[in-house]
Amino acid sequence: MHELPVVQDMIKTLDKESGEKGIEKIREINLVIGELSGIIGECVQMYFDMLSLGHSCEGARLNFEHVPARLRCDSCGNEFPHEKSFVCPKCGGDAKLIKGSGREFLIKSVEV
Ligand SMILES: [Zn+2]
Repeated sequence: MHELPVVQDMIKTLDKESGEKGIEKIREINLVIGELSGIIGECVQMYFDMLSLGHSCEGARLNFEHVPARLRCDSCGNEFPHEKSFVCPKCGGDAKLIKGSGREFLIKSVEV
């Protein structure tokens, strides 16, 4: 249930943005969620519905874009998105997770 602070932060950011830009109503919010972030879209939506009341983003529609983690090959340095395996598609070598990748949660854009 670590979506709660994440959503609180998100609404704070949106409030700040809409205050600065004079936006009265946000209609849609496009979010990026990394596959390893452990953040579940439905939970974000649930908290958002509760917490957005009375804010400029109240009732906005949330769109989730899920992004894979990225891997880097130990042998050839090739970088590629994580799908099923940790095997480099180029040379067959072993790849490792790029630090921090797949853990993102960010607001990509908003529609007003
Ligand atoms: Zn490789």
